[in-house]
Amino acid sequence: MNWAPGTQCVAKCDNRKAKPGELLYHKGDILTIVDTSTRKGFYAARHNTTEEEGLINSSNVREREALRVDPGLSLMPWFHGKISGPTAVGKLQPPQDGLFLVRESIRHPGDYVLCVSFSKEVFHYRVIYQDNKLTIDNQQYFYNLIDMIEFYSKTKGSLVTTLVTPRKKQGAKSAEQELSKTGWLLDITKLILGENIGEGEFGAVYRGEYMGQMVAVKTIKCDVTAQAFMQETAVMTKLQHKNLVRLLGVILHKGLHIVTELMTKGNLVNFLRTRGRSVVGPAQLLRFSLDVCEGMEYLESKKLVHRDLAARNVLISDDSVAKVSDFGLAKMDSKETDKAKLPVKWTAPEALKKEKFSTKSDVWSYGVLLWEIFAYGRQPYPKMSLKEVKEKVEAGYRMEAPEDCPPGAYAIMKLCWEQEPRKRPGFSKLREKLEQELSKTSPSSAAGSQEAAKTGLRS
Ligand code: ADP
Repeated sequence: MNWAPGTQCVAKCDNRKAKPGELLYHKGDILTIVDTSTRKGFYAARHNTTEEEGLINSSNVREREALRVDPGLSLMPWFHGKISGPTAVGKLQPPQDGLFLVRESIRHPGDYVLCVSFSKEVFHYRVIYQDNKLTIDNQQYFYNLIDMIEFYSKTKGSLVTTLVTPRKKQGAKSAEQELSKTGWLLDITKLILGENIGEGEFGAVYRGEYMGQMVAVKTIKCDVTAQAFMQETAVMTKLQHKNLVRLLGVILHKGLHIVTELMTKGNLVNFLRTRGRSVVGPAQLLRFSLDVCEGMEYLESKKLVHRDLAARNVLISDDSVAKVSDFGLAKMDSKETDKAKLPVKWTAPEALKKEKFSTKSDVWSYGVLLWEIFAYGRQPYPKMSLKEVKEKVEAGYRMEAPEDCPPGAYAIMKLCWEQEPRKRPGFSKLREKLEQELSKTSPSSAAGSQEAAKTGLRS
């Protein structure tokens, strides 16, 4: 178990009579590890609610539980969609000061209304959308509804009261409560945000530090996207493997911040492009291939399909371990796809044509990823248009081996690109084959150790 500083864990029992230097806690409390090296059998930890710090017996804590993947899990449980004013009033009964909900106006579609109970009355505030921002009073402006509710829960502003209790929509479960209960909610005040290290499709990625641990923070400001990412996050809480980028937790503040371990060497495409053949040798390429394969074997065992496996979604850690990231499209089943968004050059023919996603379509993508690895980060199907790729691949065309690619590695790619999904090997079979390939390259050879010495790579 990796109890790195910043890891949150759950107390398995009470420690009501703490000795000097020890931390006081109850069963079920969430504690954050601060230091694991102070005393054998003990960790220094901070209590998430009392904020006290002290030593804890390492056998008294357990890992956090995964979040249940539930479509009702919501960052905006107080959002009721399109309901009328009278219906909203009905939902805010019996009266309770600070009880609130947000609805979409029926008369003015697209406009929101904040409804608050106070002094046995319900007040309706129209939320105006102006210059990409939301406002009630033309004084305070917000990026999104989450941001607005967060503000008025702390500050009354021009409302009659601060917001106290959300009236949840039927079936909605507060993501905040679930995250907090299970120990996945992190505290924004403990985060030191650093420089921007990447641009994702939905938001920027920053370097940061959380209680002494280097982290990456993906920020998602749009509330609708943030809501969609809640599902991704719930999936990530279930997964732990050395070759998957590890989720440390999330922060809810003006949207969603997803905090993961920091992968200092960036994505695999950039890693290979910027270093090239003279620095990274075939043995290292095979090790990256094996790393990704093991991560995928684990996903396969969890019956998860990645759907967007590509070298751009593989990140490299400080000690040069490749890990699969970006479970944005990962789904338990194969429904709901937006065809226009599919990464054509990486997607298996049956997935492109019939939306049949499976572990075997991930295997196809893995073959393309292998090609990218041995081509040192080149774009696959060089100089071919997407339309051309679709047609030719369907007709049986396959990419040639990248320059100087070991024949064994190319043979594996070809297996991944069998037209028939069931003829493609699974990830455990692929792992065996890669291990055989790797054993052929002698790590003790002069070339191997020179390579390791030059790059600081694993040998
Ligand atoms: P998206 O999937 O929305 O495109 P990504 O999650 O792939 O966004 O992030 C974009 C870029 O940010 C990545 O290519 C990578 O360079 C950087 N990045 C993302 N996560 C991390 C991380 N954990 N450590 C280091 N860099 C990261």
